[in-house]
Amino acid sequence: MKANPEPSVTCHDREVSRILDLEAQRQAGTIDLIASENHIGRAVLRAQGSLMTDKYAEGYPGRRYYGGCANVDEVENLAIERARRLFQAEHANVQPHSGSQANMAVYLALLKYGDTVMGMSRSHGGHLTHGAEVNFSGKWFTIIPYGVDRKSELLDYDEIERLALKHKPRLIIAGASAYSRTIDFQRFREVADKVGAMLLADIAHIAGIIAAGLHPSPVPHANVVTCSTQKTLRGPRGGLILCQRELGPAVDAAVFPGMQGGPLMHAIAAKAICLFEALQPEFVDYQRAVLSNARVLASELEGHGLRIITGGTDNHLALVDLSFVGISGRDAEKVLEAVGILVNRNSVPFDPRPPLVTSGIRVGTPAVTTRGFGIEEMKRTASLIVKVLSHPGDEHVAGNVREEVRELCACFPIPGLG
Ligand SMILES: *Cc1c(COP(=O)(O)O)cnc(C)c1O
Repeated sequence: MKANPEPSVTCHDREVSRILDLEAQRQAGTIDLIASENHIGRAVLRAQGSLMTDKYAEGYPGRRYYGGCANVDEVENLAIERARRLFQAEHANVQPHSGSQANMAVYLALLKYGDTVMGMSRSHGGHLTHGAEVNFSGKWFTIIPYGVDRKSELLDYDEIERLALKHKPRLIIAGASAYSRTIDFQRFREVADKVGAMLLADIAHIAGIIAAGLHPSPVPHANVVTCSTQKTLRGPRGGLILCQRELGPAVDAAVFPGMQGGPLMHAIAAKAICLFEALQPEFVDYQRAVLSNARVLASELEGHGLRIITGGTDNHLALVDLSFVGISGRDAEKVLEAVGILVNRNSVPFDPRPPLVTSGIRVGTPAVTTRGFGIEEMKRTASLIVKVLSHPGDEHVAGNVREEVRELCACFPIPGLG
């Protein structure tokens, strides 16, 4: 007698199945311009739904606390080798559950409670884990925030240097969630060296662009580099740490047993696949298209009278200042979602509106480029955005745009489906 029939035989969960189907439909029918999102391919998707999710593998390849780890050891070693090769790094840890956990591990590896850290202010484009008051980083460390210049809206390296000389941080974090220009990691290194600080480069957003060689790499300059794997890198939801050889043991110990338990081996297998994909020549073509699509989207929006922060973009995203259009970021997000175009509200530098309202939106091209959008589709998308933003609340306009979005999406299916 079979004592434990598989759960799906005895009770098929129709409620969640229905929701999963709806989510697939939503993605297929939506133009996703959220800069931190992407559509993964089927190989990555399959690995994430694989039986490796069942396996406990606390520890590292060859030094686990459980038996039965031959296969997970092999896949984790592959992920580590590929990460090192892709980014030319001395050491890689592929276990962080996400980019935030990767950052937390770095704090744990390099700092003591209360140490001084410099990070980009969230209101200027930095990440929660770079010292926001509501985050562990802001609660446990002395944070000196830096930002962009009011006029140029570019990172103000002279001001960063002045702050560093004054406050003598133990760690400086370079990296952002909403900054559309090239980051000068070498300049950050020079500042760090002047005050004896360590440098963490957080490339969560631009990892794929760096991997493709289309943005200068921080690896030669930073002591540690962290990233998320689900953004431009187009992998599973997860994190990754690269570091200098001598910091490897401290970083590994911080991830496990410092702050995580069993690694998500299905996600690590999926990371190995995404890194393999990122090592192929086609990946460079993809990133080139991401960048050219972003440039076109920004310049078309600008051509229609919207103001682009810094006047353009060097990467996969653009920040749009809506204060002259007379609509808040929150309302823009809402009316665009109603027609099937997904963006997120975003503070612009020196934004007078609170963070839940904001004066801007952030748009990005990793996801639409994955589904095959090119220059023509970006131009169409920009004109649809402008149409909706200049007629908020107009049902007739909204209906027409919704129909055009549907047509566009039908021509460009998402890769994980079908
Ligand atoms: C997205 C992001 C992270 C990590 O985010 P997770 O959602 O935890 O993967 C870290 N740093 C920056 C700059 C980011 O943009």
